[in-house]
Amino acid sequence: MTSAPVPTQDQAELAARLSEIDERISDAARRAGRDVGELTRIVVTKFHPASLVRDLRAIGVQEVGENRQQELSSKQAALADLDVRWHFIGQGQTNKAAAIRRSADAVHSVDRQKFADALHRAAEGDDVLDVLVQINLTDDAARGGVAPAEAAALAEHVLTLPSLRLRGVMAVAPLDEEPASAFARLRSTADEVRTVDPSATWISAGMTGDFAEAIAAGATHLRIGSAITGPRPDRG
Ligand SMILES: *Cc1c(COP(=O)(O)O)cnc(C)c1O
Repeated sequence: MTSAPVPTQDQAELAARLSEIDERISDAARRAGRDVGELTRIVVTKFHPASLVRDLRAIGVQEVGENRQQELSSKQAALADLDVRWHFIGQGQTNKAAAIRRSADAVHSVDRQKFADALHRAAEGDDVLDVLVQINLTDDAARGGVAPAEAAALAEHVLTLPSLRLRGVMAVAPLDEEPASAFARLRSTADEVRTVDPSATWISAGMTGDFAEAIAAGATHLRIGSAITGPRPDRG
């Protein structure tokens, strides 16, 4: 006789946290008058071992996010047998674009023409990569992303690169501002980008601390890490 493997305590806790977050996502969608079916919940697994992604897949997670190229590449290679979609959400270096493209199904963090060009040059055959333009909602140019006023121009540039499919916009809320007002700016930038390409409907926003506000502001793709995975192991 065979029986299903008994989940470890860690796996049971993971499943409990996932279902609690999914309930909070549903509640936030209901309060915002939105259909929860419009929302994609990406679980950010950065700094955690590949085995965590396997455990998440076993409880139904299909969309995972990573913010460093090396970690993305090594986990994706180690888990090539798993049916998951990999979202790259970190700052992308031009010289890592080919490696990012080989492992990612979507790149949320296109923040300059040169990075878009490098992703395009790395295309193999006729594969098309989903990309989002990252918007900087802070006044600090050192943070990732283009200024909202430059988003449409970067989106237009992406449209000239046939191996990239423009999906929408992505942002992280600033630490020193109410998320709702920052996400309202993101929403109007997303509207502008949609005038460039009406099919660019994704709004990637909302993390552990602000996903309800992001849902209220129209987010379609939530990037939630620690509330689901537990605290990240210290990277020293
Ligand atoms: C780490 C990270 C997240 C998830 O953050 P949590 O606060 O753990 O939910 C989302 N987006 C980006 C870009 C990240 O780097």
